[in-house]
Amino acid sequence: MTDLPPVPALALPAPVLVVEDEPLVRARLERLLHQLGYPADALLFAGSLAEARGRLADAPVALALVDLGLPDGNGIELIAELRAADPALGILVISAWSTEDAILAALRAGATGYLLKERDDLEVLISLRSVLRGGAPIDPFVARRIIAELRPAPAQPASPPPGETLSPREDQILRLVAEGLGNREIADQLHLSRYTVECHIKHIYRKLAVPSRTRAIHAARSRGLLD
Ligand code: CA
Repeated sequence: MTDLPPVPALALPAPVLVVEDEPLVRARLERLLHQLGYPADALLFAGSLAEARGRLADAPVALALVDLGLPDGNGIELIAELRAADPALGILVISAWSTEDAILAALRAGATGYLLKERDDLEVLISLRSVLRGGAPIDPFVARRIIAELRPAPAQPASPPPGETLSPREDQILRLVAEGLGNREIADQLHLSRYTVECHIKHIYRKLAVPSRTRAIHAARSRGLLD
């Protein structure tokens, strides 16, 4: 038995609408709301969307606990209606559904919080208190799902950089590098200064995204540049 005393400072907006079709869950929520300090006449119960809409037609509510799997439809529809009618209303989903679709749809429709039914009384009480304080309690399991949803998709497999083409001169130099010639020999053969050759080789490395001569040759071969 959970024994949290009512918190005197806690404002208890009323009435509270509890939309839940399972008698046991409904009785449990009723008990927990009493435990928070709610008198019986501050609680309204509905076992279906139609019943909830009937209740809301009579008078607006100040807090709503909404189940999703209802006999005549999905509680998400009701959440959207409640949210449209009152942008500041606390709407806590207490559902057995833990699929990403259900969770995200409920939150998008305007739910303030989402708790799984499997949580114990203490956790439900903490979530209720959080809603009453203006918080948005999210079940830790649900939070994990949401975080996973927000994470960037796994990186694409590394693809070779969009091959910058080598200039004809660079191509010529790379072929000589592949033949095993040193910079001085290449410079002599092409009638260029050694520094110019070094500069060309740097550009070749950058374009092929390689750090060394051997790698440059390998990269050039795998790109078909030396065929
Ligand atoms: Ca249900």
